[in-house]
Formats: sequence, structure tokens, C-alpha cells
Amino acid sequence: MRAILATALIGAVIFGAPHALNAAPKAKNPEPQQTGMGPAAPAVATQSCPGSDDALGVTRVVEIDTTGGPGFGFQHYKAYDFLNPKEVVLTFDDGPLPTHTRTILAALAAECVKATFFTVGKLAAGYPEVLRQVVKGGHTVGMHTVTHPNLAKMPFEKAKAEIEKSVSIASRAAGVPVAPFFRFPFLKDSPELLKYLGSRNIAVFSTDLDSFDFKRRSPKRLIKNIMSNLGRKDKGILLMHDIQPNTAKALPQLLKELKAKGYKIVHLTPKAPVVTLVEYDKLIEKDVKGLAAGNQRPLSSVVRTISGDQ
Ligand SMILES: [Zn+2]
Repeated sequence: MRAILATALIGAVIFGAPHALNAAPKAKNPEPQQTGMGPAAPAVATQSCPGSDDALGVTRVVEIDTTGGPGFGFQHYKAYDFLNPKEVVLTFDDGPLPTHTRTILAALAAECVKATFFTVGKLAAGYPEVLRQVVKGGHTVGMHTVTHPNLAKMPFEKAKAEIEKSVSIASRAAGVPVAPFFRFPFLKDSPELLKYLGSRNIAVFSTDLDSFDFKRRSPKRLIKNIMSNLGRKDKGILLMHDIQPNTAKALPQLLKELKAKGYKIVHLTPKAPVVTLVEYDKLIEKDVKGLAAGNQRPLSSVVRTISGDQ
């Protein structure tokens, strides 16, 4: 079987030395129609991290070959069990939002850990400077649609446009090619859309550990819930939201508890960046400008919880 995962120690990255992640990803041979944004810049940036023996740090970087659109996160996709006991992948959905995303970036930087951010296109277009800070922090950026609808309930062409526009917007807003990583809003997929993402070589991420951080009434309860869930499962892809104030408040202490309990952070990176489609690059030209000019929309009109399982 084709090996889809490769690992490397990240010590060199943490302490600021050159690392393989600084190299441009291997060039793909894009399909003729996939000639949009896809320059040979890295999908993830790195930055030096002041060494600290107390920091949680990243113990392993996992490179994912997204060919064929593999799925990860045992809540939905069980084909690839790539995490070792005590390993945790940090993921944040629904941002970027200036205040909370920046608070989260600061907490991650303080512990020298990296995460994956599944961005909502409307917010990425509205706050490209925040998304660029995420990239600058060495984190991985993936997509979470443009307007956060339940794609499983949409006509295929509309759902496809939500996916493709989010790919084009995230790439444009980030200023670098982003990862071919996608998470369905509310974790609601469909066989047709999974097949489409497979044809686009975009990996799909569900979760192993849903924090339900949009429900928790306090940072303390959120941490308790995550740690007890982790205690039962021992490892997993942790789903949180970088638009949730309690998540931003809880993160410093959560990272300390992960360290204290011996958990290790794994950082996911793509083998190659996502390739945008030219027709959608053109379609979002106006969207990005319009959204960037009018980002005063209240958050609740852009992203809202409509069911308990997002
Ligand atoms: Zn979401």
C-alpha cells in the first residue's frame, strides 16, 4: 500500500534552525484546468521559537499526501490510524477573528506548538491580515467553506462552489498556497462531495475529540471536558473553535495540562499545497474585495451554531 504519511522530528524548527518545512513542497503536475494560484511557496511557514524546557513543543510533524482525498478523524473516517498513544493534533475551526484568533496564536506560540486552522472564507476575506499571522506562526491553514452551510443539504453545484471558492479565498487571503485540508461544517459530508474532494486531492478531516467548546460555560469546564475525553481516548485530533472566547481563555492552561499529563503535540502538514481552480479564482476576485471592504458584519450573521454537533 502506498505510504501516505511521513514523519520528521521538529526540533530543528522549534529552535529556529533550517528545516525541511522551509523547503518548497515538491511540485505536483497539476491538471490542465488547475492552473490557478499554486506557486511553489511553502504551504506552511516556520518561525523560530525561543527554546524553553518548560514548553509543550511539537514532538512530531506528520506530512500528509492528500492524493485521492483521504479522511482523518475516527468520528467519521477510520482508514488511517496514524497517531501514537498520547499524541494530540490541535485544530481550530470557523476563524479567523482578530481578537480570539490572535489570543490563540499567542498561547500556541508561548508553548511552541503548531495547529491546523480550518478557515471560513468570509472571515478569511474579511481579516486576511489575521490569516497571514496564522501562516506566519507556522500553522497549517485548511478550508471550512465560505459561509459555513450544511453542505450535505445543498445541491451539488452549490456545495462544490462553497468548497472551491473557499479554496481560492483562503489561498488569496493567506498570501501563500494553503493546505488541501477540508473540514465539513457540522461534520456533515455526503458521498458525492467526498468523491469530489477525492478527485481534487483534498483530504477531509473529522475529529476524534470534539471539545464542544461552543457549549461550555467556562474555560475551566472546557478544559475538564477535553482532558477527561482525552483520558478515555488517549490520543486524537482535537476540534476547537478560534472564534470562541472561552477557548481563547482556556488555551494557555489546557496546553499546560496536556504537558503535565504527558501528551505530545503532532503538527500536520501537506505534502503539496492545494491547487486552486482558475474559474473560482476569478469568481472570488470581487468577493474578496467586497468582503474586505465590508467586514463590519456581526459575527452572528456569518457564523452561528445551529446544531450541537459542529
Ligand atoms: Zn464550523
